[in-house]
Amino acid sequence: MNNDIEKILISQEQMNNRLDELAAQLNEKYTNSKELPLVVSVMTGALMFSGKMLERLNFMMNLDVVKASSYEGAHSTGKVTLSQDVKYDVKNRPVIIMEDIIDTGRTLKFLKDLFLKRGAASVEICAMMDKPKSHEVDLKGDYIGFNAPNEFLVGYGLDYDGLYRNLPYIGVLKHRVYA
Ligand code: 5GP
Ligand code: MG
Ligand code: MG
Repeated sequence: MNNDIEKILISQEQMNNRLDELAAQLNEKYTNSKELPLVVSVMTGALMFSGKMLERLNFMMNLDVVKASSYEGAHSTGKVTLSQDVKYDVKNRPVIIMEDIIDTGRTLKFLKDLFLKRGAASVEICAMMDKPKSHEVDLKGDYIGFNAPNEFLVGYGLDYDGLYRNLPYIGVLKHRVYA
């Protein structure tokens, strides 16, 4: 599996250090929250990131997951649908969405708008990676692990064709893997 990786972009140690920093920011913000926060992890890509973050978060919360998929329509507007929704009512509650990577921003814009429409008190976005140059909609992350170049990344939850999610670092795939 490691033979398929061209280069390591974010090592496990870099990731661990950054997760500590992100968690410290979230802990400071949500520790004395009046309403119980709901943490929503976007499956499957955010699974490893969310789990590693969770063990660092020390405020009371509920945890839930959604499954979101985006489709590219005939026109260039990607359409996002939920194949699994949250089980909690978000009304008047702070929601924190945990996502693997922001690319066009469509998935997260869809989720953020959805929770706001349902009456969430606030919706914040915590994303492991961000590709600022690829954004196509007006969506900004509130807590970002690392900015990424416009390359296809795998590892730490991110897959290529269902593989490589279990790599403990973020890497760039060798070209021959796609070929
Ligand atoms: P967006 O709605 O922001 O365009 O799409 C975000 C989703 O696209 C991510 O949650 C992820 O599933 C997928 N994605 C975007 N960039 C990458 C990448 O570099 N590697 C992998 N494995 N998935 C990506
Ligand atoms: Mg995703
Ligand atoms: Mg994927």
